Amino acid sequence: MLNAISVDVEEYFHATNLDPYVGRSRWNEMSTRAPESINATLEVFEKTGTLGTFFVLGDFARRNPQQVKRLAEAGHEIASHGFNHQLAYLLSPEDFYEDIRSAKQLLEDICGTEVTGYRAPNFSITEKNPWAYDKLVEAGYTYDSSVYPVWHPRYTNLDKPRVITVRPTNGGELLIVPLAASELSLLGKKLRLPVAGGAYWRLFPEFFIRWGLSRINARDHIPFCCYIHPWELDPGQPRFEEMPALTKLRHYGGIADFSSRVERYLRAFEFSTIQKLIEEWRSGQGSATEK
Ligand SMILES: [Zn+2]
Repeated sequence: MLNAISVDVEEYFHATNLDPYVGRSRWNEMSTRAPESINATLEVFEKTGTLGTFFVLGDFARRNPQQVKRLAEAGHEIASHGFNHQLAYLLSPEDFYEDIRSAKQLLEDICGTEVTGYRAPNFSITEKNPWAYDKLVEAGYTYDSSVYPVWHPRYTNLDKPRVITVRPTNGGELLIVPLAASELSLLGKKLRLPVAGGAYWRLFPEFFIRWGLSRINARDHIPFCCYIHPWELDPGQPRFEEMPALTKLRHYGGIADFSSRVERYLRAFEFSTIQKLIEEWRSGQGSATEK
């Protein structure tokens, strides 16, 4: 079954975990790791013959247009991660619109292709900001991939579907492409395991992630969507040692050999772009519903 792999393209210092140590006012002083992290990312995709969807942050593209061009030239789908990496539900609808509009424009100028997909920083579209969907359609996006249907301190989306759904908005329909969650019952309670990427992909035992992903395809008969970041494949990035131990573990844990792990994940399942997943869904698999 075809699944989707995506990459949230940002510098190591854009990550929300680093906000207390870097802060956006210091972004301009930070040294770039774009060439190293993009090299490592392209290498693992090339090695495994995989195409993916790259949600590029506007602020990354502004600094590194050549690196974004390389991604597009390698045949990957270029999508948008917004411009300034602010949590969407903390922005006003007007500021959010400007953030997603300017990012789309810049990426289209760099790559010469239409950008139709969006992913919010830290999956920050929740019940707090449903207006975000209207704004996405207004800005010309056709799909959103910001819903991680699991529990997390920053978002709770346990009631959200794990399949592609159509969301009506003021300006027309938007497709919602959720991130991978494995579902199981424990003592009569429904549990959702976050197996889509991030720290879980680095820190949980590999067999556990693979088991969780396999059962989404094999037991639930639905495709899944996963994600990584280029900075997770860059062990040479500057480190912020003053972080609390838990944040350090969540942010840097498993980075040293993550690229070989990602390579094994990419070989273990059939992955392609979100665009391709949507095509398959439109051509009939769209009838797949959750049990
Ligand atoms: Zn991000």
